[in-house]
Amino acid sequence: MRIDLMRACFLVTLRKGALSHRPPLNKASPKSAVKNPVRHPRGHLQAALIAPSRHGLSEKSISPGARTVVSTLQQSGYQAELVGGCVRDLLLGQRPKDFDVVTDALPDEVRRVFRRARLIGRRFRLAHVRVGREVIEVSTYRAKPDSEENDDSVLNEHGRILRDNVFGTREEDVLRRDLTVNALYYDPGSNTIFDYVGGFDDIHERRLRFIGDPQERLNEDPVRMLRAVRFKTKLNLAFAKGIEGLIAQNAYLLRHVPPARLFDEVLKMFHHGYALNLFNLLRHLGMFAELFPEAERTFTDTDLAPDTGLVCRVLKNTDQRVQQGKPVIAAFLFAGLLWRAVCLERERRMGHGVASYPALQQAAVAVIGRESQRISIPRRVSSIVYEIWELQGRLESRRPRTIHRLLENKRFRAAYDFLVLRSGAGEVPESLAEWWTQIQEHSVPQQQEMIKALNSGPARNKRRRPRKRSNEQSKQGT
Ligand code: ATP
Ligand code: MG
Repeated sequence: MRIDLMRACFLVTLRKGALSHRPPLNKASPKSAVKNPVRHPRGHLQAALIAPSRHGLSEKSISPGARTVVSTLQQSGYQAELVGGCVRDLLLGQRPKDFDVVTDALPDEVRRVFRRARLIGRRFRLAHVRVGREVIEVSTYRAKPDSEENDDSVLNEHGRILRDNVFGTREEDVLRRDLTVNALYYDPGSNTIFDYVGGFDDIHERRLRFIGDPQERLNEDPVRMLRAVRFKTKLNLAFAKGIEGLIAQNAYLLRHVPPARLFDEVLKMFHHGYALNLFNLLRHLGMFAELFPEAERTFTDTDLAPDTGLVCRVLKNTDQRVQQGKPVIAAFLFAGLLWRAVCLERERRMGHGVASYPALQQAAVAVIGRESQRISIPRRVSSIVYEIWELQGRLESRRPRTIHRLLENKRFRAAYDFLVLRSGAGEVPESLAEWWTQIQEHSVPQQQEMIKALNSGPARNKRRRPRKRSNEQSKQGT
């Protein structure tokens, strides 16, 4: 396959300008006006040019916004292509999540070409260009930092990249990318793919391979492990030889990634319709324990049972919602993953004489606080996690006077969904979840009947209350 494809491609040695698909025209502004650009001499990489007959893409595969951005940059005299996930996904027959453009225009130059561009990012400076309703990410070719004094790129003592703003050429840029399948450059104008690292073959052989020395690339940025695992699961690819073991050995590096960045990565991983498979792979490679140490420690076999366990049910439910195009919220995921930890912590506190409700509140704050040391869970998310957890007790107790208020609670739906999953996992009676399902479907008079029946009928899920409970319920105002 590889040889066959290689035959179809022809190799071209790149020299300055030799491959630019358009001759440099009038630049939008003189380079001298740009603040301290760091440009490096061109490397001597060879690109295979993949012809349309081989890759099967056409300009129409690309979103109108991305096409406009690429052609406008090219008409302004810059080199510009599509790169990364969009090329990869199109070649694999998938719909790209977004279209990323890369160019030799510096961020300030991009801003001059597009009035509606916004520069963002410190660690990795790039431009967001708005075209109609689309926002296209435009980044400048990066080069490997080779000077320690260069403060546009900063490595820490572990070789970790703290800033990555040394600009370079396409031949240098390709070596800064993580995986070969993410390093294909597509020029819609000439309908050509530039492949420097064998990414096209790897796509056809459905193989994930890091560019360069994998250990060094993981040291530079451990998030690349999460990305590799994400693409493996999402695209059903295989790791090249040795990668699985290498990731397992290096999982601990995730401890050094800023917690806010991990939060973003976790959502990218878990909110795209393959959360359950990804969870299993993360656990298999020891990465889940690095991301959610307390959750991993407290999961029981029952939680993890493939069909019935609560964690699996939460992840499956998330996947189904994504596949059905329904919204998913981060809080629901965290509520599910950390539920066992919070229950155990609550029990521990109740064992020390704390009443049930304050024990839950304290446990929630303690567990989220501890897990946030690894993955920072923003307050806007954690506050909803608390609400989902707190509402569980209220849904279980079904106090007649509170039912209508509960049904109108902003978090009722999320808490109810969680209760249904808990009932499927055997944590609460199915009749309880069924009762809440029915009451939502009924008219107000029918709801009154159901509530009235609670006072007399056996349907009510009577729970033994700890002695301090009546006190604390009045505190809740329920
Ligand atoms: P998707 O957008 O589907 O999540 P993607 O590969 O496009 O996947 P982006 O985060 O949009 O991911 O990044 C665009 C490209 O930038 C990648 O394809 C890759 O070439 C490069 N890239 C992104 N993150 C890294 C990283 N941490 N290390 C090296 N290269 C990266
Ligand atoms: Mg992308």
